[in-house]
Amino acid sequence: MSELLSRIPRDLANIVELVLKHNHWRDVETINMIASENQMSPLATILYLNDMMHRYAEGKPYKRYYQGLKYIDEMEVITIKLMGELLGTEYVDVRPISGTIANATAFKAFAGCGDKAVVPPVQAGAHVSHTRYGTLGALGIQQIDMPFNLEEFNIDVDGAVKVIEETKPKIVVLGASVYLFPHPTKEIAEAAHSVGAKLIHDLAHVLGLVAGGVWENPLKLGADIITSSTHKTFPGPQGGVIAAATKPDYKAISKVVFPMFVSNHHLHRLPALAVTAYEMKLYGKAYATQIVKNAKKLAEALAERGFKVLGENKGYTTSHTIVVDVRQYGGGAKAAKLLEDANIIVNKNLLPYDRPEDIKNPSGLRIGVQEVTRFGMKEDDMDQIAEFMKMVVIDGRDPAEVRAKVKEFRKNFLKIHYCIELTDPEAEKLLKLMLKPEPI
Ligand SMILES: *Cc1c(COP(=O)(O)O)cnc(C)c1O
Repeated sequence: MSELLSRIPRDLANIVELVLKHNHWRDVETINMIASENQMSPLATILYLNDMMHRYAEGKPYKRYYQGLKYIDEMEVITIKLMGELLGTEYVDVRPISGTIANATAFKAFAGCGDKAVVPPVQAGAHVSHTRYGTLGALGIQQIDMPFNLEEFNIDVDGAVKVIEETKPKIVVLGASVYLFPHPTKEIAEAAHSVGAKLIHDLAHVLGLVAGGVWENPLKLGADIITSSTHKTFPGPQGGVIAAATKPDYKAISKVVFPMFVSNHHLHRLPALAVTAYEMKLYGKAYATQIVKNAKKLAEALAERGFKVLGENKGYTTSHTIVVDVRQYGGGAKAAKLLEDANIIVNKNLLPYDRPEDIKNPSGLRIGVQEVTRFGMKEDDMDQIAEFMKMVVIDGRDPAEVRAKVKEFRKNFLKIHYCIELTDPEAEKLLKLMLKPEPI
């Protein structure tokens, strides 16, 4: 590589180097526990480099505005079918290029400027797109907070039903970016439907758990629409997806996603998404089951070492996420930075009892175990991670000292599990074909 770097202009070499440094740091040396991230399988990653990234396919398969799409049409149909099999509906749109765009589409399809939306509060983990500062606000839809029950770390059902009945919104949103336990879809769906509102359940964080069968599927419990990212617990390419329970709702969505929020839908992600969906059919159950075991174990291991882990009376979590209150150690900002210095990557997070103005230094850390699970970690490894975190945050050890231990530990987990394996020659050959196509 040094030959290439010395041959090309310095500014270009710098760009290449940044990518190589980033890849090495995050793929080889760090423990990655941002709850919204993951890694694609080797097959999905290589296929992601395909020529479809250069093309346009406005419209729907076989009803396009441009030529040159015969393979892309087939690819999109396969992707929709595979995602539909995982979600238990044939009404799937894979064109939203992100979870935020999926939300924008669903919100716009069922509510207009001046209408109301009842959503979980931000301190309880709602995504920015659910708020007046984000997508909801951009569409002129009014944000009305759903009451939240701190003890249960969940929506306060009676309170939420009351707010829905009183305010008569056009849409009600469930799902969050801090998601320890399933939101009460059934009860909220009944209340939403009683006032003629649509229930949109945002599964961005837990789509992989739903696909793996360890988290309830809101479409089966009365939700009208699910929106999601495709790259959090679901280990696909960055992108979005929407699924509807009924054909009329699907049609309403499809009319909005294009032409309103997407023209080119980033076609190269379709094969990667299809491969991921297929791999989830094969390995999703084992993967998702291990994620939940690991999350519970990490929560227990941290609590045993003196950390204040939320959701204790409910067993901490039934998802990939755990939440820790680190206020007594200087707050989330300080703890997250110290952990980063030790090569443990997590993010600071508001907790339900924080004030909105605490956003720069909230009380909490949000930790997700989906990516480390994908790299083959099991319960014992969660114990080790908890010990590393204690050394840094509670014992105040030098992060550089812990970093050396983390790098050593990470060496045992460099291979992605729960996917089709490629031999090195197979991977190299396939990669070469992405760059230099040949007849197959
Ligand atoms: C991450 C997230 C989104 C947005 O996803 P992007 O793909 O990043 O746009 C939407 N909703 C929730 C609950 C999320 O956590």
